Amino acid sequence: MHCRNKRRKLSLALTLMATAWLATGSVQAKEVTDADIVNDAKTPGDVVSAGIGTQGQRFSPLKQINASTVKDLVPVWSMSFGGEKQRGQESQPLVHDGKMFVTASYSRLFAIDTKTGKKLWKYEQRLPDGIMPCCDVVNRGAALYANLVIFGTLDAQLVALDQDTGKVVWKTKVDEYSAGYSISAAPMIVKGMVISGVSGGEFGVIGRLEARDAKTGKLIWIRPTVEGHMGYKFDKDGNKVENGVSGTTNASWPGDLWKTGGASTWNNATYDPETNLIFVGTGNPAPWNSHLRPGDNLYSSSTVAINPDTGKIVWHYQNTPHDGWDFDGVNEFVSFDYKDPKTGKVVKAGGKADRNGFFFVNDRTNGKLLNAFPFVKEITWAKGIDLKTGRPIYNDDNRPGDPSASADGKKGSVVFSAPSFLGGKNQMPMAYSPQTGLFYVPANEWGMDIWNEPVAYKKGAAYLGAGFTIKALHDDYIGALRAVDPVTGKIVWENKNYAPLWGGVLSTGGGLVFYGTPEGFLKAVDAKSGKDLWQFQVGTGIVAPPITWEQDGEQYVAVAAGWGGAVPLWGGDVAKRVNFLEQGGSVWVFKLHKG
Ligand code: CA
Ligand code: CA
Repeated sequence: MHCRNKRRKLSLALTLMATAWLATGSVQAKEVTDADIVNDAKTPGDVVSAGIGTQGQRFSPLKQINASTVKDLVPVWSMSFGGEKQRGQESQPLVHDGKMFVTASYSRLFAIDTKTGKKLWKYEQRLPDGIMPCCDVVNRGAALYANLVIFGTLDAQLVALDQDTGKVVWKTKVDEYSAGYSISAAPMIVKGMVISGVSGGEFGVIGRLEARDAKTGKLIWIRPTVEGHMGYKFDKDGNKVENGVSGTTNASWPGDLWKTGGASTWNNATYDPETNLIFVGTGNPAPWNSHLRPGDNLYSSSTVAINPDTGKIVWHYQNTPHDGWDFDGVNEFVSFDYKDPKTGKVVKAGGKADRNGFFFVNDRTNGKLLNAFPFVKEITWAKGIDLKTGRPIYNDDNRPGDPSASADGKKGSVVFSAPSFLGGKNQMPMAYSPQTGLFYVPANEWGMDIWNEPVAYKKGAAYLGAGFTIKALHDDYIGALRAVDPVTGKIVWENKNYAPLWGGVLSTGGGLVFYGTPEGFLKAVDAKSGKDLWQFQVGTGIVAPPITWEQDGEQYVAVAAGWGGAVPLWGGDVAKRVNFLEQGGSVWVFKLHKG
C-alpha cells in the first residue's frame, strides 16, 4: 500500500512535469513582448519588427560579416514559395525563437526553421476574384506579438496566426475590397496594439491608421488621414466614441471631394518610443487630376505623426501640397539624432526620401522642417523647398494641364515631369547607419509624360483622371544606391544600376550596406565608399529588403526574392526595357563559410 502510493505520487509528479514541459518547453514558442519590439534594433539575436527596430533605421550592430570576411559569405538554404503564384516579393522576413516568418505574394505566409530552411507551415488567404491591388499582389511583411504572427491581406483583412501551428487565432475585415481597399504594408506593434493602414489611393478610398488589441483584433481607435473625416475610439464593448475630426472640413478640400480623398497608408509606418509618436506616410490625394481639387488637400502626400495612446494627429508635414503628379508621400520616416553643426546640440530628427525627389529632414518632436534637398538629379515640378515656409517652390508650368481648359474638354496639356510617379524612391525602405551618419537610399532616375482627363468617382473603379508614360532619363542606368548626408545634403557616393532599384537596404556594424537588384544580385558594399565587396545571384529579381541576425554565434543574412511590383505593370517604356527579368518566389539565407 505504502509503496503503491509512492509510485502513484511519482507518476503524478512525472505527469505534471511533462505537462509543464509541454506548456513552457520546446513545444510552445517564446512569446514576443512589447519590450522585445521596442528593443529590437539593439538585440541582434532576433528581428521582431519591420524596419529592424520600430524607428526604421534598418541598422544591425552585428560585425562578424565585414569588409574582410564578406568574401566568405555563402548560401545556407533557400526555400521556394512554390505554386504558380509568383509576381513581386516585397516582404521583410522576421526571425524569432528559431523560426522565420515571411509573407509572399497573393497573401501567403510561411514559417520556416531558420537553421535548416525546412518549411514548418504555410497559410494561404483564400482571396476572392474581385480584389483590386493597384500595384501587384505584394505584401511587405508581418508583425509578431505574444504567440501570434499578424499580417494584412489583399482583400483588406487582418489575420493573426499561431506562430507554432499557423492556425487562425483571429481574423477581421478592415474594409470592402470591392471599394478598392486592400492591405500591402506590414503591420506594426505599439504598446500591445497592432497598427495598420490601408491601400487603395487609386480608387478613392479613405486613408487611415487603425489600432487594435494585438491579441484579439478588437478595435481601439481609427484615425483617418483625409482632412474632414472623424476619428473614433472604441470603448470596451466596441461602441464608437468620437475622437475628434481630422482637421477642418473643407479647409483644404473643396466641396465633397474629401469624401473620396485617397491619402492611403499603404506602406509601413514607424514608431519612435522617445517621442511616443507613430509616423505614417500618406499617398496621393484622389483623383490624380489636381484641377478638380484646389487647395492643399491635407493630409495627402504627407508625414503624419500620431499619438498611439489617443489616436490623434500631433503634427503633420506635407511633402507635396496639392499633389498633381501622384507623388505619394508614403516613404518611411526614419528617426535619427544628429549634432547641429552650429550649436553642437543633439537634434531629434527624422529623415524621409520622398517619392517627389527631395530628401526631407524634420524635427521629429514637432514636425518643423530642418532641411530639404534633392536626392535625384532631375526634378522638374519644383525649384526647391523653402526652408522658411516649409513649402515647395513650384514650377507652375510643370503641372499637367486642366482638361476643362482644352478645346474639346477631354485632355489637358501634356507635360514631361521628373521624377516619374514611380518616384525618386518608392516602397523600398532605405537604411541609416549611426556609424557613418549616412542614409542609404535606393533611388531611381526617370520621368514621365503626364496629362489630365475628366473623371468622376465610381465605387470600385480607378479614380485617376490622368494618363502617363514613364521614360528613362539615361541609357545606362535608372537605379542608383546613394549614400546621403542628411546634415550637409551631399550625396557622398552612388552605385548606379541598369534596372530601377525596387528592393530595400540594410546597414550593419560591420561597415557594410546590403541591397538587392532586379537583375537578381544581392550585394554587399562598403558603407563609407560604396565599393562593391560581394554579390550573389539569386535567380530572380530582388524587390525586398534584406535582414541580418545572429544565432548560435553566427551572423546570418536573409532576403526574399521574386521580381515584380509596380514597375512591370506601370513602367511604360521602362517596363519594356526590363522585360528580360524573370519572376520567382523564394527566400535565401547566407552565413560565413568556415574554411
Ligand atoms: Ca532584435
Ligand atoms: Ca498613388
